[in-house]
Order: sequence, then structure tokens, then C-alpha cells
Amino acid sequence: MLKHIALRYSGLFFLFSVFAFQSSCMKGKKVDLIIHNAKIYSVDGNYTIFDAMAVKDGKIVELGPERQILNKYRCEEAIDANGKEVYPGFTDSHGHLLSLIDQKLNLDLRETKSFDEVLFKLEKYAAKSSRKFIVARGWDQSLWALKEFPNNEKLNKLFPNIPVLLIRVDGHAALINECLMKKANLSKDSKIAGGKVIMANNVETGLILDNAINEVTKLIPPFSLKEKQETLLEIQEELFQYGITSVHEAGINFEDIQLFESLIKSKKLNLNVYAMLYPTEKNKDFAKKNGHYVNKNLSIRSFKVVGDGSLGSRGACLKKPYSDDQHSHGFLLTSLADFKEISAFCRKVDYQMNTHAIGDSTNKIVLDIIAQTFKYKKDHRWRIEHAQVLDLIDIEKLTLYGAFPSVQPTHAVSDQRWAENRIGKARLKGAYAYKSILDKTGIFALGTDFPVESFDPFLTIHAAVQRKNVQNLPKNGLLMNEAISLKECIQGMTLWPTFACFQENKSGSLEKGKDATFFIADLPVRSYSTFQQNFAFMTFIKAKKVYSAE
Ligand SMILES: [Zn+2]
Repeated sequence: MLKHIALRYSGLFFLFSVFAFQSSCMKGKKVDLIIHNAKIYSVDGNYTIFDAMAVKDGKIVELGPERQILNKYRCEEAIDANGKEVYPGFTDSHGHLLSLIDQKLNLDLRETKSFDEVLFKLEKYAAKSSRKFIVARGWDQSLWALKEFPNNEKLNKLFPNIPVLLIRVDGHAALINECLMKKANLSKDSKIAGGKVIMANNVETGLILDNAINEVTKLIPPFSLKEKQETLLEIQEELFQYGITSVHEAGINFEDIQLFESLIKSKKLNLNVYAMLYPTEKNKDFAKKNGHYVNKNLSIRSFKVVGDGSLGSRGACLKKPYSDDQHSHGFLLTSLADFKEISAFCRKVDYQMNTHAIGDSTNKIVLDIIAQTFKYKKDHRWRIEHAQVLDLIDIEKLTLYGAFPSVQPTHAVSDQRWAENRIGKARLKGAYAYKSILDKTGIFALGTDFPVESFDPFLTIHAAVQRKNVQNLPKNGLLMNEAISLKECIQGMTLWPTFACFQENKSGSLEKGKDATFFIADLPVRSYSTFQQNFAFMTFIKAKKVYSAE
């Protein structure tokens, strides 16, 4: 009975609200879109939460209480958010769309549990593929029962005549067969700056590191533009499902600019892309010729410099040797002379320099370069990508010269299985130290480094706030003194990334005059101690609905 009355009451209330809304629809200023009955996290300076907002010509006209917005504005399309939360569109501040395209078009080896499973998948793939060069990505020996790096013995037997390249999940190590070894002229005698051909008992194992991988990747026959376009659009759809409306693409070649521009021209790319250029000659010419380049939703005004490798493959450059390999302290992938040259070039063309720095030695080198830049320009926003292992005295220096950290919380919880073995307890204090970093800089950009990690932003929240992976491990969270709050995490995925790409005046928060780029979350965005999946219910870019779960 009670339920019945309640139903009738809510029915009456519904009638009333429609009537009230219709009457308000007839008066007031005309706008294109109204979102109401929502919890709009504006991520403005006061982190204000509003009920409703009005949008015209892709921009926000006003945010305010429900009645105020509904009385003041009218429109053809009003969306009742049913009390759901609304956030500015998320940015993934460090991703690799091009690698993900590659991964989708090639064989995916993530989730493999042993090297034998890798071989099994390869045979199956080769049987139905017409490609004359097999490329697979995503293996990670630390997830296998036998946690050792593989060699190419079995691979050579299975594929004696067709080149095979198996890239490790972090992209800093690869296993290749003898056929490819010959094709690329790689042997124990190869001298490659910033790269290595790994040997065992004085024979090549097939394992190669860092710049040695470039020697083989340049031999891969390219996919067609059409294949890449179609795959990029698939990825775009997946990003919108998570409320991600912007990606900082961490390194592209000159030829890749065309891929983005072709999809902008055909009006199919809605995603905002901030692309960092690799410092090749062609890209430098591009920077000289174009300066700060903007073509609709593609902007280019930065270089990506790869300072060192990864901790997983012991390629990160450390001040002191690895704790689990006293003979190695990793190596730089960009020489000091090249660092000097490219940083001077960036200053000259007023491009931002974003340097991949994992090891504490590389981070120190980058900080010294940033200190030089600070003398010329205070608001340079030069970024340290990853800022993964820092000497505690270097964390202190972060704020002095305006360094802008760009970090990936999911790396912390993925690496926790072996990070302490690699660098030891003492150095772990300055590793994945997001709270310490944020305390110094007051701002940072969050990303995932996809496809190394999933681009699911709710996993980033879980990793940053709970410091746990998808399996909810480690049980008590990893180094919990380095956990950040949910609010800081949201800021790190919305407003702060726009500072990292000089777009804070047009997006990143929901404020009057800014782009109406936002998503309605399906479930409330929280950080639960037990992980909960979440998605966008609807995603909008400049008021255009680009995704709907309905
Ligand atoms: Zn990366």
C-alpha cells in the first residue's frame, strides 16, 4: 500500500516536473543543450558541484542550481541526468595511440602465462595471417611461472624462414628469431648506441634491448592508411566509453601526422590529440616551419625525448647499480650531447620538451636541463614523463625550476611485484612517489602509458588512491604514504593535464566560456577499497554527443 502511494506520488511529481519544465522551455534565452538534475563536478578553483548547466555553440553559458538554469534558459534538447555525476572529459596525459593501433593489428601477447603459450598463439596466428613478417606485442616474463627471459631456440625451429618479432609489454625488450637477426644484420658484434644484443655462453639468445629494437622495427612492412584509420576510430570509441576525450600522444613520427589529419579532414576524429614529436630531422623541420601548430583538435608544440629504458628490462638509468644485478646500472637512450642539442632546439622554437625519465640518474639529468631552461623562460612547463625513480634530493628540486611531472599510477601497482628486487628498499622511498611529488609541484598530469597499461581511468583512480591493482593487491596498498586523494586524482585527469598542454583556458574544467566537453558517469565516481568497474553513460565533446550507452 505504502509503495502504491509512493508510486502515485512520484507519478504526480513527474507530471509536475514535466509541466514546470515545459513552461520554462517556452521562456528564457535559447541555448543548444541543458544538462540538469545532475551532480556536476566543475573542477573549478573551489571544486564546486552544480545541479545544471546551459550550453551554446559548444561552450558553457552558465552553471547553477536546477531552477535557476531551467528558468533562465530554454532549448530543444534537455538531458535529465537522473542525479548522475558529470565530470569534465578525462585526459590520458601519456598514451600511445599508434602503438595501440599496432597492437590491435598485430598479435596481442598480453595475458600469456608462459613462453609455450606465446609459441602456441604464434602458430595459430601464422596459420591464418597472410603477413610476411610476424609482429606480436605484450609478453611479460614476470607473469610466467618461469620468470626468466626467453631465448629464440624454439622460435627458430617453428619459424625458420619468416621474420618474427616479439616485443615485450614495455617496448624496451624484444625476442627475435634467427631469420630476423640476419635480415637486420644483428649479431654479437653489433655496436648499437643505447641498445644491446643479449648473449648467453657467447651466443646470441635472440633477446635485444632498446635501440637494437629500432634496427628491426624499421624493417616491418607498414599497415595501410585505411587499416590504421579504421583501428584508430575503434580506439576512439573505446576511449569515449570511459569518458576520455583527450589524449597526449607521447611520441609520433612525421608520417603519423597525416593519419590524424586525414581523420580530422573527414570529420571522424572527435578526440582531442596533443601530439609530441620525436626529435627527428623531419619533425624538427615541421617545428621550424609551423611553430605552435593547431589543426582543429590536433595540437603540436612539443618534443618527446626518450631519456632511458624501463625498470622491467633493467634499461632505466640508475645512479648506482641495480640491486638484482650489480654489474648494470642501465643506460641513457639519448646521449648528453644529444640532450644538449635537442633542449637548445626546443628553446629556440619555443617547443615544450617532454622527457621519458625512469631511473634516478636520468631524472637528475633532465632536472639539470630544466634548470637551464628556467633561466630563459619561467613558464616553460617542460615535462618529466614517468618521473618514476627519483633520488629524494631530486624530488626537492622538482619545484625550483618549474618541472611538470607526468606520472602513471597503474605502473606503480603493476611493478610492485618486482620493483623492490630491482632497486632495493632505500631507493623505493623515491619511487612511484606521487604524493611527495605533488606536495612539491602542486600539480601533475596523470596518464596510463597505454598500451603498456589499460587506459581505463577508473583503474588509475584505484591505483592512485588505493594503491592496488585489479586483483586488489597488495592487500594493504603499496607504500600508502604516497597515495593521493580522489579529488587530486580527478584534477590530475581533467584540469591539470590542460596546463601540461597549454590548453587550460579552453578546457579541463566546466566553467563559463569553456568547452562543453564532459561525460555523465554511469556510477558515482568513488574509490572503493574493493574495486568497482565504471563507465561513461554519455560523453560529449564541445556539446556534441560522441558516445551514449543507451
Ligand atoms: Zn610511453
